[in-house]
Amino acid sequence: MSMIEENLKEVEKRIQKACERSGRDRSEVTLIAVSKTKPVSDVREAMRCGITVFGENKVQEIKDKTEEITEKLDWHMIGHLQTNKVKYLPGRVCMIHSVDNIKLAEEIEKQAAKHELVMDILCEVNVAEEDSKFGLKVENVPDFIRDIKDFEHINVRGLMTIAPYTDDPESNRKYFATLRKLMNDINDTGILKNRMDVLSMGMTGDYEVAIEEGATFIRVGTGIFGERNYNI
Ligand SMILES: *Cc1c(COP(=O)(O)O)cnc(C)c1O
Repeated sequence: MSMIEENLKEVEKRIQKACERSGRDRSEVTLIAVSKTKPVSDVREAMRCGITVFGENKVQEIKDKTEEITEKLDWHMIGHLQTNKVKYLPGRVCMIHSVDNIKLAEEIEKQAAKHELVMDILCEVNVAEEDSKFGLKVENVPDFIRDIKDFEHINVRGLMTIAPYTDDPESNRKYFATLRKLMNDINDTGILKNRMDVLSMGMTGDYEVAIEEGATFIRVGTGIFGERNYNI
């Protein structure tokens, strides 16, 4: 068994346990395999193990990998996105998780219209208010959604957060609970035609807690592919 296959077995086991603990059905949680910095051969090994949903944080890497791997997969853009690179994404990714400003939303609207498609997006929320992270403040999310809700080529599917890096996953529980409450509160106002149904939260260090708090997408990199090496 390859390392990736073993890791995936372990992650799957933990996902199922977290679902059981919280009375959720396994089908409510989608595992996004975060393959950033990893070679195409690693993506192919994960595919061999049945993974079809991948996450990347750089547009160039999405371009490269989707040119090399032409099988039908779901690619998610999970990283910070510059407006001038949006044009490469329609047709390549099925969802953009990192929308946190109106200029970016306007550009996604424009490029999605050009491609005659509707792009699923998530609003990135900096729940823990870390200076080093992108994302909207919790209190600004309702107004932001009001500003973009009528864009015809954008479908606001939900919210995303990156919780602080920590050795103690329990310490992130409050941030995940806050994101879930924020989504429910905004849904209850009825400002969106379609209720949001996606919570993208939880990474290698804290995905089990995130599942317990309602995550529908977890983004796991290191736990599947091993440590990343940024120096090559
Ligand atoms: C890299 C990354 C992940 C995966 O992180 P791991 O700790 O390796 O699981 C998840 N989400 C985002 C936005 C990332 O950039």
